[in-house]
Amino acid sequence: MFVNPKLITFEKMGESKKTCEVCQTNLNPETGFYFGAAYVSWALTVALWVSVLVALKTFDAIGWIEFGFLTHPGTFLTTGMVLTVIIFPYLFRLSRSIWAHMFIKSSPGVKS
Ligand SMILES: [Zn+2]
Repeated sequence: MFVNPKLITFEKMGESKKTCEVCQTNLNPETGFYFGAAYVSWALTVALWVSVLVALKTFDAIGWIEFGFLTHPGTFLTTGMVLTVIIFPYLFRLSRSIWAHMFIKSSPGVKS
């Protein structure tokens, strides 16, 4: 779906191909179509941060680390930010892919 197949790259990172190579579906239906993917990205990022919180509370409960949301905010913020940066390239493209799947209909007459 993307022009540059490499995941870790800054060159044409979000540029998608004009059409699907398999079914010729138009992947760029209108100018700015992928701006909406930011909402998907936001939801996924919130889910990531909630997961970090749940994980830290679980590790605290089983005694691996000492963690409280109000007593150790640095642990939460550091873990969340590091994970967000690491996972960003994947999340960026995943968001666009999900957005495309939600709003692009495949070309009529083509069976997939
Ligand atoms: Zn296709």
